[in-house]
Amino acid sequence: MSQPNMYRLNSKAVANATQEWLTKRGVTKAQIGQLVMLLQKEYFPELTLDECIVNVEAVLSKREVQNAILTGIQLDILAEEGKLMQPLQDMILYDEGLYGCDEVLALSIVNVYGSIGFTNFGYIDKFKPGVLKKLNDKNDGQIHTFLDDIVGAIAASASSRIAHRKQAEREAMEEALDQNGQ
Ligand SMILES: [Mg+2]
Repeated sequence: MSQPNMYRLNSKAVANATQEWLTKRGVTKAQIGQLVMLLQKEYFPELTLDECIVNVEAVLSKREVQNAILTGIQLDILAEEGKLMQPLQDMILYDEGLYGCDEVLALSIVNVYGSIGFTNFGYIDKFKPGVLKKLNDKNDGQIHTFLDDIVGAIAASASSRIAHRKQAEREAMEEALDQNGQ
C-alpha cells in the first residue's frame, strides 16, 4: 500500500543522481561544454571551455532538467534490458523515427531557456557533433534514444544562457560608459 505522507522530495538526492547517471552513461560536462563552444564560438570568439562548462553546470542545476535526464536515462536503460512493453520496447530500442517522445522530453529542457535554445537544439540535432555522434552509434550495445536528445538540449540551453548573459553584460557596460560620459 502506498503511503503518500511518507514521501519527501530530496532535491540533493535528485541532483546527485543526475550527475551520477550522466557519468555512468558516459557523458561528461566537458563534452557538453564542447558542444556549447561549437554553437557559440562564432558569436563570442573570446568564449572559453571553462565558461561553457560553468553554463552547463547552471543548466544541470535546474530541477526540470534533472527530471528530464533521470526519466530519459531510465527509459534508455529499460529498453536496453528489454523490460518495456511492446511495441514501445522496440520503438525505443530501434530509435523509431516517428516515435518523437525523446525530442519532446528534451524540449522540456530547452523550454526553460527561451527561443534561442530551440534554434540551437534544431541545429545540433541535425548535425550530431562530438559526443552526440558517440551516443548515436547503434553498434555499441547501449541505447541512448533519449539521452542523445537530452545532451543536445542541455548544450542548446547553456548556449542560450550564454547569449542572454553576454547581451546583458554588453548593455550594462554601455550604460556604465554612458553614465561616465555625462
Ligand atoms: Mg533520440
